[in-house]
Amino acid sequence: MVSASSDSKVSEIIELVKSSSEQDIALITKAHDFAREAHKDQVRFSGEPYFTHLFQTAKILAEFGMGPITIAAGFLHDAIEDVGVTPETIRTEFGEEILFLVEGVTKLGQIRYTSNWHTESLRKLFVAMSQDIRVLMIKLADRLHNMRTLASVPQEKQKRIAAETLEVYAPIAYRLGIGRLNRELEDLAFPFVYPDAYEETRQIIEKRQEELALDLEHFHESLRIKLVEGGFANAETSFRVKGLYSLYKKLKRLDMDIEKVYDLSALRVIVGSVADCYKALGIVHAAWRPLPGRIKDFIAFPKPNGYQSLHTTVFTGDGGIVEVQIRTREMHREAEFGIASHLSYKQGLAKGDAAHPTLLWVKRLLPGVGEQAAGNGSVAEAKYSDVPGWIKELVEYQKAHGDKEFEEGLKEDFFRERIFVFTPKGDVVDLPVDSTPIDFAYAIHSDIGNHMSGAKVNGKLVSLDSILKNADIVEIQTKKNAKPNRKWVDHAKTSMAKKHIRQALLKE
Ligand code: MN
Repeated sequence: MVSASSDSKVSEIIELVKSSSEQDIALITKAHDFAREAHKDQVRFSGEPYFTHLFQTAKILAEFGMGPITIAAGFLHDAIEDVGVTPETIRTEFGEEILFLVEGVTKLGQIRYTSNWHTESLRKLFVAMSQDIRVLMIKLADRLHNMRTLASVPQEKQKRIAAETLEVYAPIAYRLGIGRLNRELEDLAFPFVYPDAYEETRQIIEKRQEELALDLEHFHESLRIKLVEGGFANAETSFRVKGLYSLYKKLKRLDMDIEKVYDLSALRVIVGSVADCYKALGIVHAAWRPLPGRIKDFIAFPKPNGYQSLHTTVFTGDGGIVEVQIRTREMHREAEFGIASHLSYKQGLAKGDAAHPTLLWVKRLLPGVGEQAAGNGSVAEAKYSDVPGWIKELVEYQKAHGDKEFEEGLKEDFFRERIFVFTPKGDVVDLPVDSTPIDFAYAIHSDIGNHMSGAKVNGKLVSLDSILKNADIVEIQTKKNAKPNRKWVDHAKTSMAKKHIRQALLKE
């Protein structure tokens, strides 16, 4: 028997699996023992047994609520690639489904990065995602553990791995709504990719840290009292400090002026129902003056990745400003675990919650979810053949354009932060930060863009190059004989708008 490090006990993982059956426990244990034996002669850069990595990857998957099949595949994810276990062996020992997942992860792992690695790896990632989202979850868990241990990797490799994490994996975690994973990946990669910016950001925050903590503690106490007085004796409250990388991105947009960052720290209030969220918001606003324009209702208008919450920023009364985020327990779980919470959560899709946009999105992605495995009470892990729209869009876009443009388009359109603006009828249009009415018009329809004569934002006429802000109501005026102007290319942010404008100019 090979001894593993003392902290890697399979029971730690089994405890994390909700209502596991005997069959589930047997499967996880078998995969654990198999991986430990198969990798027994292998060590990591740190000198630790390689098995530590497999154990931690499987554990992360369990923490994210993934089912026994995915956890087992997590244990086995390097067996084919690293120690030459044959696919036949995995099929015989663990069955077709686990082999499919392990081979999926193996394919992703075979990407060797050359000068054009970015596009290439993205493409392979998307193909893999299109086949089965669980492959991607395993890859993300694998990457998270590799990032947690990046310090022991040779220096020349560190930067490449960290840059890839920042450009590929963290944004994907964000798009899948897995906030916790997105934040951790970003913050682990940040110091390796941008050491100077990291240092600068760290120093900026350090100066504020102490007063921030004091303010926050004081406000937190008062908030709890107000909530109890308002009938919320059981509301849960907690702090969250903005991730360093996320703060850095924001600072860059704000001339590195920390005073302009209003959500440096936030207080979370978790209540029982949607109605309670609005009631709690009322309590907060009755006690503290809100900053105008900072009240965001992501419950009525969820972010495209499914995030829901009420946000408001209030004056604390002692010179400070703090963001308060109010949500239900279910919204909180979704914000932390995103798509993973739907892959695993039994009742999630069975409640007839058809109006819920995230659920619809996940349903499209995962037609098999919600089916229970017969009899044993574990969560069904069906094979998901369907693909979410945004991934389809990426694939279509890539087919229609060159690789370079694809890459640019990705960075510009899909992976940047978005703003949400409205048509006069109240339809939501999401656009990249710094978009203009030109982008808005082309996002509605190319004909509207091509015949745009003017734009109104919140009822006022504006120039076409004005920068749109969250929650603006945008109205496009058109004229039959109006046509695009050459300058519009520079004033447009989205590659979609630029493309249509160039085409229209060429036709003339
Ligand atoms: Mn691995």
